[in-house]
This record gives sequence, structure tokens and C-alpha cells, in this order.
Amino acid sequence: MAQPKAHPLIAGNWKMFKTTTEAEAFTEALFQKVQAIPAQARPDITLCPPFTALSRVLDTVKRLNAPFNVGAQTMESRESGAYTGEISPLMLKDLHVDTVILGHSERRQYYNETDETVQAKTQAALKHGLQPIVCVGESLQERESGVTDSVIERQVKKAIEGLSAQEVLQLVFAYEPVWAIGTGKTCDAAEANRVCHLIRQHLATTAKDPASVAGVRILYGGSVKPDNAEELMRQSDINGALVGGASLEAEPFFQIIQAAGVAASVSA
Ligand code: PEP
Repeated sequence: MAQPKAHPLIAGNWKMFKTTTEAEAFTEALFQKVQAIPAQARPDITLCPPFTALSRVLDTVKRLNAPFNVGAQTMESRESGAYTGEISPLMLKDLHVDTVILGHSERRQYYNETDETVQAKTQAALKHGLQPIVCVGESLQERESGVTDSVIERQVKKAIEGLSAQEVLQLVFAYEPVWAIGTGKTCDAAEANRVCHLIRQHLATTAKDPASVAGVRILYGGSVKPDNAEELMRQSDINGALVGGASLEAEPFFQIIQAAGVAASVSA
């Protein structure tokens, strides 16, 4: 019997955008819109501002009692030390941050993150009770050379290496083809679903219980917009979206949140 789909999650990655004032104004504007959606039709929503705006967004969420989680866009795996400019899991917990994006392709591309550092960070996030969103995805060159599946397998297997079956079930993954990020080129929904299914199969090998991995949320990311969100989220193995550009304005981000609710009700 088919397992029910996991509750959808829509996460907004603001990258290096928004001052503290802008972050507060966005959070208030999104809350005004999201309030209109009944709780049972609402996906989980996570806002990932830059480090400098985390406190302000957390305070705003608390003041409004808004149904938003708050995440960081990266972190160091170590707890403290002489690592100038870095932010540790302890520091994020101290702020009451819930979530952390790990291994985003921009971190891999510009800041030398590797499968090994993503593995260390994933373990650190779990140890400190932060919800990791682990990003994987192939470059354009890798896709064109036909090695997409082996790249995804390598990234997923390294990220979960050393985790218990129980820990694997706590992860959120984001399949983000690098060529689709910020380019306006979305991955075809059926192809995105195929790769998300592949990720789930790799998780099932470690989790040892294929049925339980149905509950692991696998997001798609890469030029998600209001007009393509519903089709993507209707796919059997896609449980939400990691959204960059379209998460910077309240209205398009709200429309993506609505689309996730519609897709979930259609597939229920
Ligand atoms: C991202 O930054 O994770 C992302 C998917 O960006 P965009 O939606 O702009 O492609």
C-alpha cells in the first residue's frame, strides 16, 4: 500500500539579501498573508535569513506568534575555536534557531564546502538539535555528461555516512540541480521527481526500512516560482521546495506556500 506523503515544507533561502529592517518588514508582510490559510492546509514554513538578521526575524516571529521556523544558511561543524568569521551550532541554538541549510551549491562552489564538510556539519546539526536541510545536486557539466545519478549517490551517501537509521529519518534533503539555481531554468517535474526518488532509495538502504523513508522530506530547489510550484509539489517524491529568488518578496513566496497546500490536498 502506498505510504501517505510527508507534510510539505517550504523554505526560503534569502542568501545575502535583506537588512534587519527589511527582514522584519518581510516577516510581518508574509504573516499577514499566511494567516488567511487554515492551519491544516498550510505547509511548514521556514525562513532562512542571513546571520545578521536571524535575531530580528526570530523576535518578529515570536512577537507575531507566526507559524514560521527560522533557519541559518550554513554553519561551522565545530562548537568553538579560532575560526574567524564562522558561526557554530551552539551559537545558533543560543539564538533558538531551528534549522540549518547545509551544502548549498553556492557554499560548495565559492567556499570550498565538500561532501566531507557537509557530512561533519550534518552530524553536528543533529547533535545540537538543529534540523538540517542537506542540499545535493549536479552541475550542468555533470548532467550533460550523464553522471547525474552517480553524483547524487555520492553526495547523499557521504552526507549520511556514520548516521544511525533513526538519524537518517530526521533529515530533510533538497535536490537542487546547480544549473537550475537562480537561472530561471526549472528541472522538468518528472525528472526532478525521479532524482528525489533516487535520493529516497539511497536513504532506504541506510534506514533499513523502506516504508519509514516515505516520511523523510525531500524538497526540490531551482527556480521554483508561483507558476511551476504546484506541478513540482504534486510529484510523488517531492515534499516541498527550497526557494531562493522567489522567497525575497512576500507575494510570490506566499503563492508558492499556497501551491504547496493545494498540491497536498490533491494528492491526499
Ligand atoms: C536556492 O538558492 O536554493 C535556490 C533554489 O535559488 P532559486 O530559487 O533562486 O533558483
